[in-house]
Amino acid sequence: MTALTLTEALRRRRRRRRLLVRTLLAGAVLAVVAVAVPGLVRLADAVGTMTADATTDDAADAGATDEAADATTTDDPGAGGAGGAQGDAAGGSRPSVLLVNADHALPDDLGAPDLVDLVGTVPVSGSGVQVAAELVEPLRQMLGAAADAGYPGLYVNSGYRSAEDQRELWDTAEDRSLVQPPGHSEHQTGLAVDLADLEPDGASLADSSSGRWLADNAWRYGFILRYPAGKEEVTGIAYEAWHFRYVGPEVAEICQREGLTLEEYAGAA
Ligand SMILES: [Zn+2]
Repeated sequence: MTALTLTEALRRRRRRRRLLVRTLLAGAVLAVVAVAVPGLVRLADAVGTMTADATTDDAADAGATDEAADATTTDDPGAGGAGGAQGDAAGGSRPSVLLVNADHALPDDLGAPDLVDLVGTVPVSGSGVQVAAELVEPLRQMLGAAADAGYPGLYVNSGYRSAEDQRELWDTAEDRSLVQPPGHSEHQTGLAVDLADLEPDGASLADSSSGRWLADNAWRYGFILRYPAGKEEVTGIAYEAWHFRYVGPEVAEICQREGLTLEEYAGAA
């Protein structure tokens, strides 16, 4: 608890410092200069992020911050390249994250993920469902906590997909609003899972309390609900209550607290 408290104290101090910077930057002349100078644009972005930060503070159930978050990213020209590296943009306080979507293909030099078959580690739909090694333990913890919370029926339905798998899905998809073309699916990173529930109390995860539990708690284990309802314009993908992306605890917490999609986090929205 001490470490957490210290982290929180540091974060708050950082927020106050950024707020001060924002005040100093408030002039219109500086705003014009900021648009022209990449370094200052990044600073302005960091300051803009502060705005969203301040409005939501510790509210875990974000969503009301869309406008503020959008405002911080609309004039950001550089962030969110192929690797989605944005880490240093906000004064070094935000880790970079891999962004893969319709506009951002899997980087050629990414290499194959270190894959682990999930059988024997978590409830899974069958053998052959693999994910990147780094998220096996967080996934195990998340599904364990879900079971403890009363949702023992959750299991992993899909994980890693090869380029060939994705090609086949794309070629045969009836509704391409739910599928990305080959080279553009998060499933090819090994960092995404589709979850399902054996015992839904409603219909799909979108309507079940287990789905709500996941949406509310996945961030604690480093996952985010990647394609939320109401963010279709940003993600380019229809609401998927089942698709969770591992981004690590730090990024997941920021996205949850500020109501950001990965595109918004990476400044690519
Ligand atoms: Zn998926």
